[in-house]
Amino acid sequence: MSNQSFSNRKKILIIEDEHRIVETLNYTLVNQEGYIVYTAPTGEEGLEQYRRRQPDLIILDLMLPEMSGTDVLRIIRQENENIPIIILTAKTSEIEKVVNYRIGADFYLTKPYSLEELKEVIKVCLKRTSQTTKVVEEKDVEEIKVGDLIMNYSKRECSVAGKPVNLGYKEFEILWFLARSPDRVFNRDEIMKEVWGLEAPLDTKTVDVHIRWIRKKIEPEPENPKYIETVRGVGYKFSTHKTTEN
Ligand code: CA
Repeated sequence: MSNQSFSNRKKILIIEDEHRIVETLNYTLVNQEGYIVYTAPTGEEGLEQYRRRQPDLIILDLMLPEMSGTDVLRIIRQENENIPIIILTAKTSEIEKVVNYRIGADFYLTKPYSLEELKEVIKVCLKRTSQTTKVVEEKDVEEIKVGDLIMNYSKRECSVAGKPVNLGYKEFEILWFLARSPDRVFNRDEIMKEVWGLEAPLDTKTVDVHIRWIRKKIEPEPENPKYIETVRGVGYKFSTHKTTEN
């Protein structure tokens, strides 16, 4: 059973049309983990429940009748940048996965997934949001300026050399993380842990893919980056030297 006290039980919304899956998840999450669970069989109802219940985390199926999971994801992300969203899916093509990550999915579990894994992912996601909130409150860092990069966290604004840059959710998080400690090298696991809040389950190549997207947006020559440097065999750093040899 859970060690959470009754008053601060976390609320999870499951948006899924397969009755059997909903039942299993509901049983596991309520009886074994002590969460409060709300369920919705369609995207429309999911959105309605999301607004009414204000859950702490959402588990979202992609293949829903009528409104697709991806549309639900997009709408929720427009309203709330921080709520963790775990995608459940039967099969996904790489491209679909990439699209959903760019919109702001936090994690993907492909059916059939293990309940143990799902339980862990939920814990990590919930822990991460409470930590993120704390960090922002404590340090109160709103804006950073490094060289000609300016980022404002609460406004989610970014500009390079005076030009506004439109970054995706995770792209912004990665760049913010790197640029906050200029010239410090971070390995892929550290970036992964900071941005996705996960120690291992996701392929760290995801970090490389996101770095490539960020470079395309901020680097005058993405193939010869001057802001985000690759440190061979280690990881990445936000460079203030403006010179690279690769
Ligand atoms: Ca479905």
